[in-house]
Amino acid sequence: MAWTTPRPPHPTPITGANRAFWTGGASGQLLIQWCTGCARWVHPPVEACPACGGALAPRPVSGDGTVFTFTVNRHPFNPSVPVPYVIAIVELVEQPGLRFTTNLVGCAVDDVHVGMPVEVTFEPAGDEAWAPVFRPRAN
Ligand SMILES: [Zn+2]
Repeated sequence: MAWTTPRPPHPTPITGANRAFWTGGASGQLLIQWCTGCARWVHPPVEACPACGGALAPRPVSGDGTVFTFTVNRHPFNPSVPVPYVIAIVELVEQPGLRFTTNLVGCAVDDVHVGMPVEVTFEPAGDEAWAPVFRPRAN
């Protein structure tokens, strides 16, 4: 049975809006922008709330989510990146539709399924950045 493999550093161009998302892993926190104007989470990071134009501020989320959909890459497009690996869209438990594309780690490729409970973990991604990736939820 094939297992997911360690990920290489992700390219992470840090800007003002996405800084918290990419650096929260240093303190073990997944930081997502929160709009105080309309009380909702906003991702991907932007400068202002797309719904109300309000100011956004990063807040920690639980780090729990579920696999919304996924694919298994078995082709070595980049010889320095070991295969297979799982590319997934994870939906966070905090809000329906609050999703982002990530990698799954720490599980057998054949065990991954839609709706699988997962939790965030972080991988160093160069300089000050930490890539949020997900593993099967422990509880
Ligand atoms: Zn808003």
